[in-house]
This record gives sequence, structure tokens and C-alpha cells, in this order.
Amino acid sequence: MIVYDLQCAKSHVFEAWFRDGATYDRQVKRGTVACPVCGDKRVTKSPMAPKLASTKEKAKADAKLGDMLRGVREVIEKNFDHVGDRFPEEARKIHYGEAEKRNIYGEATLDEARELKGEGVEFGLLPWPKRQDS
Ligand SMILES: [Zn+2]
Repeated sequence: MIVYDLQCAKSHVFEAWFRDGATYDRQVKRGTVACPVCGDKRVTKSPMAPKLASTKEKAKADAKLGDMLRGVREVIEKNFDHVGDRFPEEARKIHYGEAEKRNIYGEATLDEARELKGEGVEFGLLPWPKRQDS
């Protein structure tokens, strides 16, 4: 794996992983690499040395992140009310003082999250690891 610091035409710098240099060239030519900030596809390598990581190290980093997220999930499940897909509704009620202030968690679509943000409702987005039932 190789990670490049890339730059779009509007000078946003971001990192992206590729299998190798040739894959990078191919994907940029096809326009499948887009700036995560503005979606610009005119992407070039930023003048920084590429960082290399072995797939083994990457897997280790992913596993570590997975552990951390599972820990976060446990804390939230213990201390927060699960409101499921009523999250946007409940978050609004709390924000506007129509419901008691409490910690809640649940699901919302990206569109709903955007709307909430627009209204000034405070919340965080978490990648939620799937529960491993055995
Ligand atoms: Zn950009």
C-alpha cells in the first residue's frame, strides 16, 4: 500500500491510499479520485514524499481502531438512551427544550444530519462497528 498526499485544483490537501503508483495514475486518469472537501477531480500529488506502509501494519492499525470504537460503543450503550431512527426528532426536541436534556444515540441519514447541523443541533458522528454475535 502507498499513501499519497494529494492536492486538488483549489489547494485542498488530503491523503489517499493506493495499491501502488500505477493504480494512482490509473485512478486519477479515470477521474475516480476526488477531493473530499470540494469534490474536485483535478487531483495532483502534493509536493511531499509518499509514505509507505505495509499491509500488515495497516491491518494492525485497523484492528486497533476497531478495538477503540468497540470501547466507545460500550460506553455509549451504557450511558446513552437509544432512540433508533427517531434520533433527529429527539435531538431537535432536546435542542429546543421540548424534552429533558439527556444523552441519546441513534441513527440518522446523512441528509438528516446535515439538517440538524444547519439548525445548530450539537451531535457527533461515529463509525459504528457491527456487533459480533457469536
Ligand atoms: Zn478541494
